[in-house]
Amino acid sequence: MVRKTGYTRIIEGGFWLIRLRWLAVIGILIATTFADRILKISIQQIPLYFIAIVLLLLNLGSFYALKYTTKNKISIKILKGENIVKFQILTDLIILTCLLHYSGGVENPFIIYYIFHMIIASILLSPKTSYIIATIALTLIGALTLLEYYEILPHYTLQGFNDQNFYQNKIFLLGTGFIYITTSYLVVYMTVSVSTKLKQHEMAYTRASIELEKKDKIKNEYVLRITHDIKNHLAAIQNSLDVVLISKSETDRQEFVERAHKRIRRLTSFVNELLKLTRIRLVNKLDACEFSIDDSINKVIQEINPMAMHKGIKININSKSFITKIYGNQVSIEEALSNLISNAVKYSPDNSAIYINAIKIKDSVLVEIIDNGIGIPMHEQKLIFNEFYRASNVANIEKDSSGFGLSLVKQIIDKHNGTISVESKLNKGTTFKITLPILHTR
Ligand code: ADP
Repeated sequence: MVRKTGYTRIIEGGFWLIRLRWLAVIGILIATTFADRILKISIQQIPLYFIAIVLLLLNLGSFYALKYTTKNKISIKILKGENIVKFQILTDLIILTCLLHYSGGVENPFIIYYIFHMIIASILLSPKTSYIIATIALTLIGALTLLEYYEILPHYTLQGFNDQNFYQNKIFLLGTGFIYITTSYLVVYMTVSVSTKLKQHEMAYTRASIELEKKDKIKNEYVLRITHDIKNHLAAIQNSLDVVLISKSETDRQEFVERAHKRIRRLTSFVNELLKLTRIRLVNKLDACEFSIDDSINKVIQEINPMAMHKGIKININSKSFITKIYGNQVSIEEALSNLISNAVKYSPDNSAIYINAIKIKDSVLVEIIDNGIGIPMHEQKLIFNEFYRASNVANIEKDSSGFGLSLVKQIIDKHNGTISVESKLNKGTTFKITLPILHTR
């Protein structure tokens, strides 16, 4: 998808002006010849042809300047796309004034063409510049009118088209002057309003599509990571089973069946974790009810105790919550507690102790899970809630891990409008703190 930046918009606008000017050159040549030969209007042919040539040369200059700017992505102020467009518009206004001077001045109906430049400026340039350009255009018309009125400049009447010498008629000049001024500023005001709104919409659209692209990239990386992990497990299972098929040794076969079995267990737990995380992400609102947080802590500890006892770890509970019930989704809160407490066991040395505190603070309950384990390096503490993230000091400790646990815990706590934080010292221990509102807050 090609997105238009302010830079490309102005460059495209510059090239569009150049195309219009080629037409203008042809227009001047045809109109002058037509007025003279067919309509038999007396007209200053030589100066008009000369102006057409000047316009042609200026346009060639602008064309090459813009091409040079685009090719070299110029950032030199004078050659910036915007400055080239300003230069084009200003030279056009001067040329149009010269053309009008040699073809009837204020009596020439082509005077209305100034409006085009005001519209073009309002579309391509800033509102302030657009009003300045409108003022310059009106000043040029005003100056030409006054100079011809006071006969400082000669007036070339379009004989055969308008012989009334309106350029000397005060009432005509004041009336048309008033109409030109009000029309010009109104046109600029309207065009600036519309184009500002369009630019804002375009910017909002661009921002949204950049955001979408980013999200799409993250999603693709996520899918890639998951498929990669699943593929690794499958390849290991396949290899073990290949050995089982060709090996003649019973011990080897036994060993590789065990390996395959272990890998299948890891793969299943990986997929289960992934499913849980995806499910919790997809639901907007969890089913909630009142339940006792103390009971949930006890229940989770009972489940984890065999694993803790295996390492000689003692789990101590200190509940000062004095609340029997909190409002939330019991299953997912227990899932979160289970992840935090089993991590504490997993990352603690044998024969150590884990402490779990539950304290009521105002309208929330604070649960602390404190261990004396390996800790988390300071600079990695903010990363551990990211999916797949495993701190650098656990690489050799626990291989049966997915790195999904804490992101699942965070999702669950977020969905309950709670908070989660971590304090940890390397080789000293870690404390996870979660707060959960007691009342239903949604
Ligand atoms: P894992 O499956 O690797 O345990 P988690 O998402 O549960 O994944 O945890 C992410 C990482 O956070 C772990 O790999 C570990 O580095 C770190 N971590 C989590 N809990 C603890 C803890 N109690 N002590 C030390 N490190 C921990």
